[in-house]
Amino acid sequence: MRILLAEDDRFLADGLSLVLKDGGYAVDVACTGVDAENALFETQYDLLILDIGLPKMDGIELLKRLRQRGQKLPVLILTARDRLEDRVSGLDLGANDYMTKPFQLPELEARIRALLRKEQWDNRTDVTFGPLVFNTVTRTPTIGGVSIDLSARELAILEIMIQRLGRIVNKDQITEVLSDWDTEVTFNAIGIAIHRLRKKLEPHGITIRAIRGLGYRIEEESA
Ligand code: CA
Repeated sequence: MRILLAEDDRFLADGLSLVLKDGGYAVDVACTGVDAENALFETQYDLLILDIGLPKMDGIELLKRLRQRGQKLPVLILTARDRLEDRVSGLDLGANDYMTKPFQLPELEARIRALLRKEQWDNRTDVTFGPLVFNTVTRTPTIGGVSIDLSARELAILEIMIQRLGRIVNKDQITEVLSDWDTEVTFNAIGIAIHRLRKKLEPHGITIRAIRGLGYRIEEESA
């Protein structure tokens, strides 16, 4: 899943982006409101983390404009302003959640997961596919109660496959969730990650089938 972080505090932006990337999200950082708006025009994001005090265009203006355009992605406001009026106006303008700085990282991560779960999983906490159970709260796949050890990239691929059960996921969609401005993920790298993921799933009767020219689909192997 791809997150846009609109934050002009470079130190905070870099730290937060590292933590989120480590968790398997693709993260882009925009340091001004104008840069953030341009990024939102160009890329389909799953979540916007929005600082209010941004140069060139503040977060409130940016939020107002993106909702007016009908962009529905979840928005989490992250700001040093904690006056009641600011919280209320942010939420009234269509923000989905609000956190004030300084914040505790685990709480921010939990709120991000909650927003994405609502958006991507319809609030479901567990999704079952054959013997595989994917917990959307902890983003942990388990089989028979034992968690499967995956790299951040393998996890992100499995996640998008589980979100689109029964459907074909094409390489562009996978590239979109794995790439950010700093790392361009090649089709070759995706192929390698899928190969590794398949090796870990196949002993349990689940495979990822390549459908020529179209993409991939997660399937149960018929006995
Ligand atoms: Ca700021």
